Amino acid sequence: MSLKGKTAIITGSNSGIGLGIAWEMARAGAHVVLNSFTDNDEDHALAEKIAKETGTEAKYIQADMSKGDQCRALIEKAGVCDILVNNAGIQHVAPIDQFPVAKWDAIIAINLTSAFHTTAVALPMMRKAGWGRVVNIASAHGLTASPFKSAYVSAKHGLVGMTKVVALETAEEPITANAICPGYVLTPLVEAQIPDTMKEYKMSREEVIRNVLLERQPSKQFATVEQLGGVVEFLCSSAADQITGTTISVDGGWTAL
Ligand code: NAD
Repeated sequence: MSLKGKTAIITGSNSGIGLGIAWEMARAGAHVVLNSFTDNDEDHALAEKIAKETGTEAKYIQADMSKGDQCRALIEKAGVCDILVNNAGIQHVAPIDQFPVAKWDAIIAINLTSAFHTTAVALPMMRKAGWGRVVNIASAHGLTASPFKSAYVSAKHGLVGMTKVVALETAEEPITANAICPGYVLTPLVEAQIPDTMKEYKMSREEVIRNVLLERQPSKQFATVEQLGGVVEFLCSSAADQITGTTISVDGGWTAL
């Protein structure tokens, strides 16, 4: 399908899933806006590379998704937003009685509250354009829980709930809102969990991947960023016009267990 003429803003997209989605959106012809909280040459170089290789327009806008005013400024600076992908996210793992308060606040701000701010500014732009897609990158942890992930599980369940509200508020308009719930995808966020888990369980990297990370993923395979980009592209197609307010799991069977 072609997304020519559409502009996609993907939060938290200088790495991992967000970057993968940006590539798939650009390959489909959309103009893409990349984002993270840093402002390095490499960030801008990513946008240049996407523009050069796909022939579409791409730019990088620095904005810290833990700050409400910066979330809003990201969308305002982009000026147009047909496809909003709320993807920025962080993780921290600790028992609830030892969970650092600052980590709780940061996870709720970046993984949940940022999507409230960006959606609030993007929806009037979508209404003006007469078409729009809100795609929230939740998680299997938006539908199920694991121990030691209180903030993450709370934020992702919250994001799934907010997705339903946005869908109902736009139900009679040519705008949809959905959440994608990936299982494990091998990205820097997951990679960072491997060394500590190896130490904790006294396991090799391979054992950690199969027996810990993919323990609840029956396919025993990671989902890929390209697959997630493909699902976003599907949600942007006319086949998905009546798909709104729901979740799409990309989890190798995790939530079927
Ligand atoms: P990642 O660490 O590779 O990417 C996270 C992105 O968010 C990065 O681009 C980072 O720069 C950005 N980010 C972090 N803090 C930010 C801030 N304050 N402001 C702006 N940007 C910020 O991780 P990922 O695995 O690609 O995760 C992307 C999303 O997918 C997250 O919401 C995560 O919860 C979700 N997810 C990931 C997996 C997985 O297995 N990797 C599974 C389910 C859901």
